[in-house]
Amino acid sequence: MHKQVVTRFAPSPTGHLHIGGARTAIFNWLFSRHNEGKFILRIEDTDTQRSTTEYTESILESLRWLGIDWDEGPYFQTKRLDLYRAYAEKLYHSGWAYYCECSPEEVERRRQEAFARGLKPKYDGTCRDKGLTPAPGRVLRFRCPQGGITVIRDIIKGSLVFDNSELDDLVLIRSDGMPTYNFSVIVDDITMGITHVIRGDDHVNNTPKQVLLYQALGESVPEFAHVPLILGPDRKRLSKRHGATSVIAYRDMGFLPEALFNYLVRLGWSYGDQEIFTREELVEKFTLEHVGSSASIFDMEKLRWINGYYIRKKSPQDLVDQLIPFLKERGYPERERSYLIRAIQTLQARCVTLSEMADAMDFYMVDEVKYEPQAAEKFLTPDTAGFLKDIIEAISLRDGQFDERALEEFFRRLADERGVKLKVIAQVVRVGLTGRTASPGLFEIMDILGKETVIRRLERALDYATAFQKSATSS
Ligand code: GLU
Repeated sequence: MHKQVVTRFAPSPTGHLHIGGARTAIFNWLFSRHNEGKFILRIEDTDTQRSTTEYTESILESLRWLGIDWDEGPYFQTKRLDLYRAYAEKLYHSGWAYYCECSPEEVERRRQEAFARGLKPKYDGTCRDKGLTPAPGRVLRFRCPQGGITVIRDIIKGSLVFDNSELDDLVLIRSDGMPTYNFSVIVDDITMGITHVIRGDDHVNNTPKQVLLYQALGESVPEFAHVPLILGPDRKRLSKRHGATSVIAYRDMGFLPEALFNYLVRLGWSYGDQEIFTREELVEKFTLEHVGSSASIFDMEKLRWINGYYIRKKSPQDLVDQLIPFLKERGYPERERSYLIRAIQTLQARCVTLSEMADAMDFYMVDEVKYEPQAAEKFLTPDTAGFLKDIIEAISLRDGQFDERALEEFFRRLADERGVKLKVIAQVVRVGLTGRTASPGLFEIMDILGKETVIRRLERALDYATAFQKSATSS
């Protein structure tokens, strides 16, 4: 029988979930789902100085928002210290580890010296054969093989060969009893039965050390897949200098989780030229063989394009819940859900993010629309004041239907009677209702706003135009 695939995502809670980390999580999740395996979440919090529960919460929230669920965990490394100590004992008793009493300052000084002499700045082995026993202030070091090579067959990068003489007698347990990253990772990966380690390629140089530890413990080595980093447009590692880097920031900018998920998968993995994938399709198609071996460049325009696609495709009923926090953030008064849904429908084709949609919703939400200065100057003027008055009168007198089709017919007739172009009337009314010269279809908007609101807004526009007339004539 085939061994069940077990993957893990192992973030350190020293910051919000970075989009590079999110992509690693997504690849692990997809790979385990594709193989009907297990996906484990592990929080690597042994750096107690920099780890916080707020960051842990934020990482969990980001994963949930992206729709990534885990079968086990979250496990916390700080709750597993006894396990690391037990494995450390094993290595010590089998002779693969030794205690070292060199002070950190001394180790550092000798490293500097070696470096200055053009040698590899690694631990010089002073305590290797002293046969020291455990005592306060002592660290436990790995007795790294001095010769030979370590070969890693990486699914993405191919074979990687490391000279053991380049490797350090790394510290496994610090003097305060905390395990180091390389040690806790292998103990966890062994005890959790991880079959595939999929992680960022910034960990490639740790891998030979980890492989040697597996071998020293007599454990089988998992498969490795190191995913190339995400770079900014300048080909430097993506960082705050390039703009937002956390999943939370993209959520707050109004990106949809399915869009960010789709975009991040495609950034580094491909399936012909296809760009848009449903989650089910990704689970079905994702394999590590199609992950590229070169770094990917983050492309905001493409992410926006994908987001726009999902905004258009989703039903307004689904979008409304995601949009409401953005409406609240802008302090708009509350509106009926059915009203919001109709308004969203008119904006889906025009907005790329939820944030842009919430901005574009303003005229649906507040009565006192802000006139764009240029729009007001051109369309709410002495020339159009008389004309606006006629429109208000005609609309007020109208008893019939106030729906899109009836309104269009009515406006056409009005334009004919006054001998003006429909376009001109439409622009004046549009500015009166929305404050802008560009908006969704005018009759659609009128239909949604309703007769009373339309009249109220046009009266305000008329006041504006006449006030303008007065100040223009009195000056
Ligand atoms: N905790 C490590 C990190 O956040 C990941 C370790 C691993 O995946 O092996 O970079």
